[in-house]
Amino acid sequence: MLRLRDLHTCYGRIEVLKGIDFEIAAGEIITLLGPNGAGKTTTLMSISGLVPPRRGEIVFKGRPIQGERPDRIVAMGISQVPEGRRIFPHLTVTENLDMGAFLRRGPEGIKAELDYIFQLFPILSERRHQAGGTLSGGEQQMLAISRALMARPELLLLDEPSLGLAPMIVQRIFTIIGQINRDHGTTMLLVEQNANLALRAAHRGCILVGGRLVLSGDAAGLLDNDAVRSAYLGL
Ligand code: ATP
Repeated sequence: MLRLRDLHTCYGRIEVLKGIDFEIAAGEIITLLGPNGAGKTTTLMSISGLVPPRRGEIVFKGRPIQGERPDRIVAMGISQVPEGRRIFPHLTVTENLDMGAFLRRGPEGIKAELDYIFQLFPILSERRHQAGGTLSGGEQQMLAISRALMARPELLLLDEPSLGLAPMIVQRIFTIIGQINRDHGTTMLLVEQNANLALRAAHRGCILVGGRLVLSGDAAGLLDNDAVRSAYLGL
């Protein structure tokens, strides 16, 4: 579904991604792990077009997308759930969800998506008229994921969904991530600090250090590998 080839991304003169190659098959959940500053968020931003790469290729369903505008990339089927949730605090839950559907045509599809979201997260239905900024951190994360789902993505990019949330909520969010993957076959690229949880949720893992991919493999294999656990995962 997605192939990155020799991807280089810079902020001004500073090169952050130094030639990244990897592929994601349709229906897979891949987690991108690594220390702070490794370039994980930058990888997601490069794919979604928010930080266009300087060099290399991003191919989505056979079509090069590097250099495309972010809204075009959403229309093609890639949505990002940003780090820190970034919902619209002064808009209601329903209005936040409508913002995610801005590219969709026809009320039927939007209604079906809303029904699915409210079944995944009944609390959002209860709070549908409430301003996003008054929700708890966990509810805001649910809203951020739901807003991205409103575009019906084939590839969902999730940036640290567990950040700042209580363990019980994190568990719930990860259960739902797995459910979305199973229900719709949604392909996912997940950036996480919580390596243990992320590898349990994912099919494969990639470890990024200093803007380079140093290791990738089957998630269960990475979790079992003592050298990987101590060197890269802090476990
Ligand atoms: P973290 O886990 O801390 O979020 P990360 O692996 O996601 O780390 P990035 O956020 O991609 O890493 O950052 C990679 C490097 O790029 C860091 O050194 C960071 O300081 C730098 N960087 C990120 N965003 C910008 C920006 N807008 N301008 C300049 N440098 C940036």
